[in-house]
Parts: sequence; C-alpha cells; structure tokens
Amino acid sequence: MTDTATAPVFPVPTSLSPSRVSSFTSCPMQFRFSSIEKLPEPPGIATTKGTIVHRALELLFVRPAGERTPAALADDMAAALEEYRTHPDFVGLRLDADGTAKFDRDCHALIDRYFEMEDPTTVREIGLELWMEAEVGALTLRGIIDRLELDADGELVVTDYKTGRAPSSNFEQKSLAGVHFYSFLCEAVLGRRPAKIRLMYLASGETIETVPSAQSVKFITTRTTAVWSAVERACTTGDFRPRQSKLCDWCSFRQWCPAFGGDPSLAATEAVAAHDALIAAPA
Ligand code: SF4
Repeated sequence: MTDTATAPVFPVPTSLSPSRVSSFTSCPMQFRFSSIEKLPEPPGIATTKGTIVHRALELLFVRPAGERTPAALADDMAAALEEYRTHPDFVGLRLDADGTAKFDRDCHALIDRYFEMEDPTTVREIGLELWMEAEVGALTLRGIIDRLELDADGELVVTDYKTGRAPSSNFEQKSLAGVHFYSFLCEAVLGRRPAKIRLMYLASGETIETVPSAQSVKFITTRTTAVWSAVERACTTGDFRPRQSKLCDWCSFRQWCPAFGGDPSLAATEAVAAHDALIAAPA
C-alpha cells in the first residue's frame, strides 16, 4: 500500500499520447516509472522488430508509386535492418550471430503478407510517420500517424501498422482507441475528420477498419481529459497504484514494484545503471 503522506510529489505532465493513456489505465505504477520518472527500459525484441518494420514500410512509401514492388520492400527491409544495427534498441538485445540471423528472418517474415493486404502502388499517401499535436485545455495531445492518405473520393484515411497479433472481436474496439485518437488529431489539426481508420495486422494479414464519428472523436477528448485528471491527482499525491495483470510478466520495472515487494524509490538509480551497463557491455 502506498503511503500518500510521505510519498514524493511528481511534476504533472503537460502532454499525453495514446500509448501513455493506455499505460496509465493498465498500471499507474508502471506509468510512473516509464512516463513520469522516464526510466530507461531494456529494449524488447518484439518492439524493436516493430520499429524496423515501420521503418521499412516508410522507406517503401518514399519511393514513387510505380516502384513499390515486393523486391523493393525486401530491399527496404534490408536497409532498415542495417540502419538499426548500431541503434541501442538493437544493440541492447545482445543477439549473437544466430540470434541476429533469426531476428532478420522474423522481420522479413512480418512483411511476407503485406502485398496480399493492399497494393501500395494505388495508395495516395500525404504523410508518413506524421507528428501531430493539439491542445485540449491545458493539455497537449500528441501522436505519430504511421500513414495518412487520400481515398478515391479525396477523403482522409489513417493507417496504423501493427506487428503484434490481431485482437479477438471482444477487444477490437479497445485496439481501435489509439487510432480514434489519431482521428481526433486530424480533425483538430487539419479541420477534417478522416473517413476511415485502419489497423493493418501484418503478421496475420488481417485489417480492421472503422469509420470515426463525431461521437467517437468526442469520446477521445472526454476519456483523455478524465485520464489526465487522474494522472494529475496521482502526481500531486504521489499515489501511483500498482495494478497487477498478465502484463506484469513482461514489466521492466517489476523488481522495484511494491506489488512484488520492491522499493520504487530505488528504481531511478538502479534502472539507469542497469541500462547503461547493458548498452556498454561487449557483445
Ligand atoms: S510489475 Fe505489474 S503491477 Fe508492478 S509496475 Fe509492473 S505492471 Fe504494474
């Protein structure tokens, strides 16, 4: 149980992104470690693969439409892998030669089904890895849109690439919350609500689509404002509760989590030292 009488008071953040909203609602204690104290986390293999796949698809769409072929995407994947060879997110995985070869194969496999999902020569993209932010009261909402494009009628379409598994139908709406957030940003920044938002699950070849409405966009501001109020309250009192779930199995901060007998006050020094040692250690 957190002692709110002696707990430290944290600076209140002034911006929120979809991943931060999701992090706070999943576990406030983890949010404290990652978003308030900004502690480094060891890179995860799935996250690093996802980043590299996003980069390869970005490189594909930098090409003229007629040159977006499977061979070009394979080249772009090879280029993205090469770009990341010295990046801390790859170096920190500590892969040996066999591990690196498997990592590369897995990244290529993640784009195997891409051309079954869409024909990139017909996509009219107007923005790639597009940074957007908008004010809601004193709060800045921000996010990066993987791809913004125009459909045949000239309407906006937001596309988000996913490298994890597609959700079951029960969790589809939850997984769309992030892209509704992006449709809110489009409306706020560009003055137009997208006609469609799409999640492309590259590993399985599935695409989930939804049509944003005035209500879905309004829901984002209502929900985000409520989450921000809760974040503000937690920062003021220092009371970030741990919320145990299956996510604890992958949590980088478990050893400092009070739910597992840890001391959160030690995380700041120990997490930084562990991360520096991981990156600096010889392969
Ligand atoms: S171990 Fe679980 S409860 Fe603790 S911070 Fe991580 S996700 Fe939250």
